[in-house]
Amino acid sequence: MTRIALIAHDEKKPDLVEFARTHESQLRDYDLIATGTTGKRLLEETDLDVGRKESGPLGGDLMIGAEVAAGNLDGIVFLRDPLRAQPHEPDISALLRICDVHDTALATNLESATYLIEGLAE
Ligand code: PGA
Repeated sequence: MTRIALIAHDEKKPDLVEFARTHESQLRDYDLIATGTTGKRLLEETDLDVGRKESGPLGGDLMIGAEVAAGNLDGIVFLRDPLRAQPHEPDISALLRICDVHDTALATNLESATYLIEGLAE
């Protein structure tokens, strides 16, 4: 089953929830995981089933990176806040890097996220 991870920084969480609602029928076909707080919002505000990792600042990004390294993830939607430095920036960089190492699809804005989930559906 196609497995994707959903992550959003705080300022982008409303956008990700809206994205998940818009694409809910498609996302329902996927095995979904998310960082802790993003996953909580998705569980509360959509009908999707989402496996929650730790919150990003507590290691959630690294947990998702480990899944990429293990070859368990087909894609990641990671809506980052480009305007604010994050305390766990090294972990975020590590996640982006491991996606490039393993050629795992990674979308960091809504437009590319749409392409990503449509591409995975084919
Ligand atoms: P969060 O983590 O969903 O727990 O807020 C996202 C992140 O990596 O910043």
